[in-house]
Amino acid sequence: MKPFSSLLMLVLFSFYFLPGTAQEYNESPQIRAMKSISSHELLDYVSELASDKYGGRLTGTAGYDSAASWLIRHFKDWGIKGKAPAGGYLQHFDIPYTRVYPGCKVTMHLPQGDKEILKHYDYVEEFIPGATSDSGTVKAEVVYAGYGITAPELGYDDYKDVDVDGKIVMLEREAPLNPSEDTALFRKWKPYSFHQYKLRNAVRHGAAGMLYNYGPIVNPNNAYEEGFIYSHVGDTVVSDVFAGTGHTHQEVVGSIRKNLEPFSFSTGKKFTITNHTKHFPNGRGSNVIGYIEGSDPQLKDEVIIVGAHLDHLGRCWELIPGANDNASGVAVMMSVARALAQYEIPMKRSVMFLALGAEEQGIFGSKVYLDNPSYPPEKTSAMLNIDGVGVGNKIGVTAGENHPGLYAFIEKANDQYIHRHLNPSTFLNNTRPRLDAARFMKAGIPILSFYAYGAPSVYHQPGDDVDKITPEIMEETAQLLFMSLIEMANQ
Ligand SMILES: [Zn+2]
Repeated sequence: MKPFSSLLMLVLFSFYFLPGTAQEYNESPQIRAMKSISSHELLDYVSELASDKYGGRLTGTAGYDSAASWLIRHFKDWGIKGKAPAGGYLQHFDIPYTRVYPGCKVTMHLPQGDKEILKHYDYVEEFIPGATSDSGTVKAEVVYAGYGITAPELGYDDYKDVDVDGKIVMLEREAPLNPSEDTALFRKWKPYSFHQYKLRNAVRHGAAGMLYNYGPIVNPNNAYEEGFIYSHVGDTVVSDVFAGTGHTHQEVVGSIRKNLEPFSFSTGKKFTITNHTKHFPNGRGSNVIGYIEGSDPQLKDEVIIVGAHLDHLGRCWELIPGANDNASGVAVMMSVARALAQYEIPMKRSVMFLALGAEEQGIFGSKVYLDNPSYPPEKTSAMLNIDGVGVGNKIGVTAGENHPGLYAFIEKANDQYIHRHLNPSTFLNNTRPRLDAARFMKAGIPILSFYAYGAPSVYHQPGDDVDKITPEIMEETAQLLFMSLIEMANQ
């Protein structure tokens, strides 16, 4: 080999095999830590949490507890300490829960002379069993009872002209008016928009079952009442119930909403609902809490919370993996925690990682936390909530317009490092709580809540699985949060 070519080889060798180029040497630890957050890491976390071994992470079940233990093992590996109010990582609470087993059915009986034809509906496409239904069978006539509301002070009662004793009621979700149209009026109706209220009011009126027009999705945020059997149904069942009654569903709902007058009637349709479930009244759930203490002697008493709900819907009756809702959020929280801890990023304020339980059972874990917090609300500078960041190509920031000072950190980091389409919104927070962050906002804590959108996603059904996840949007959400969080913690 000639001297010249050996020199060339040496030069080339140096470029390829020396550890890092000049640019990498100049990178701050923050940038290197940010770059360590990869879509591979995030997808690994999501795949783990969405897998069958955690059984859909319904709070109260052993599957949820295993997911919590798995998360705590990671916190320990990274040197992230526990910060539950009573010490350790876990904040326990009581939570009843219900398991749903295979073979649940919804059937319509169509009279044909002196015989009848049975129409069986399709699981997931047309119905999903009520996630807090009692076990057993109810066979009865269906009475349409509107929104299922009895509100004497509002002069409104869906049950006033119908007898539902021993019958199946068909009910609408929510209240018959738009929350953002007349906020003051909506507030009076708000208590009647809760699922638990509607179910219990149906039971109070003697109903034995319910077809809930909430769409065929799983929802364990409801009451369990002994002997009450119900199912969630979609458009096919609703239009079959209305067929031949002389009313269309659209007309009837339109009339109730326009006049704020009930429009209840016996449909003459006979249905059977059969569910196989088991109720566990003494379940125990938890929030998982870890933290990195701030370095400033004064500012370390202040905290920024990064929160994501760890729970999902369990099996109803198939596994509901909850890859997007909310394994994706937990994954993002974990990658941020890991990068901050492993790269020992200096932060003046403390940062807490709050994996909440029972979001799906009435946003309950966040209530438990706020009733007994690790840091008082006045020392909590912000709560950054992450829920459903696994599918799409855009990042939504709920309440971004409510807290412009806080949102400015996000916008700045996005302009500098990420360059994604961001969409901040105004959060009215006047409906029943549907977001952990809503409870923190009520407690006077500035919030931002992150979600991804821009592609079709599956909500509260078995199809919310890892194959639908877009890892890139998780990576960018995590990197965005990571860079903004460091600025927030040091300002
Ligand atoms: Zn959910």
